Amino acid sequence: MLFTTLGLITVLMGILIIISLQDQLNVFRIVVLGLLLILFVLGLLLLVTILSIVMLWYNKKIPKFLMNIVSVSIPLFFPLLVMVGKGLKIEKNVVRRAYTLISNKLILAKKYSLKGENILILTPHCIQKAFCPHKITYDVENCKRCGLCHIENLLNLKDKYGIQFKVVTGGTLARKLILDIKPKAIIAIACERDLVSGLMDVKKIPVIAVINHRPEGPCINTQVDLQEVEKAICHFLKE
Ligand code: SF4
Repeated sequence: MLFTTLGLITVLMGILIIISLQDQLNVFRIVVLGLLLILFVLGLLLLVTILSIVMLWYNKKIPKFLMNIVSVSIPLFFPLLVMVGKGLKIEKNVVRRAYTLISNKLILAKKYSLKGENILILTPHCIQKAFCPHKITYDVENCKRCGLCHIENLLNLKDKYGIQFKVVTGGTLARKLILDIKPKAIIAIACERDLVSGLMDVKKIPVIAVINHRPEGPCINTQVDLQEVEKAICHFLKE
């Protein structure tokens, strides 16, 4: 991906340089030079992003300013990642999964010291058994803890760590809840598509994304890796 993009940028820059040298119009030259500058900055940003991702991947520490740059550049380059993935015939969900992994790495590389009440677990209602008659989207405590779905386990984590736990019916409600509750950290459980769109929306709050398991297909009786959720909670908590 790196070489394809850098190759494209270099070719484009070469063409623009040739055009600008041949033309006599100053305005045109200024525009071309402006474009070149933008391309140069984007190329540099891409290079820095890729290097930082590689370092994060191997659990190497990266300076804070680089972290800040990467947090901004990753969503910026996501459409490029999707395009490259399409060109290489990589499934969209694989690209989205990679995006959530990179985003999680960034959050896991930082230290947090939050109180339980400031941490919010958000999950879609498809994690509840489809036949369950208890309405938990209004209040999770309506769950009778029969143990047939992971709602009970998530409630246990809520009680153990004093965190907040909400079940939502969709992205709009999730966004509204975040505005109302104002958590300082979020653990979002969902499918790849919903997680990526949520990560794009919630830029100011650290989010650890946990991809759900879908043994019966999408949006029905989904499950979650509870260990992964507990690890995420501990990462945000005060030590
Ligand atoms: S644990 Fe049982 S009661 Fe609670 S939401 Fe799941 S199926 Fe319903």
